[in-house]
Amino acid sequence: MAKASDRKGVRTEEGPCCAATRKRVMTSIRSSYLSFPVIRRMACPECKMILHIRVFERPEDEGAGAGSA
Ligand SMILES: [Zn+2]
Repeated sequence: MAKASDRKGVRTEEGPCCAATRKRVMTSIRSSYLSFPVIRRMACPECKMILHIRVFERPEDEGAGAGSA
């Protein structure tokens, strides 16, 4: 009956290091993975915070899908 979906008690403050790491990993996943979604969990090399990285397909960007050429 353990539910691991709650985020209580988990650190969620991401520093610039986390954002940079996340962005780098997501970019890497998008360019190297062929099947999506890809869900990974990794520790930030700087602050050791666990980052949940989820990549759904290869979106042009999260949200609006405008902008070509
Ligand atoms: Zn970090």
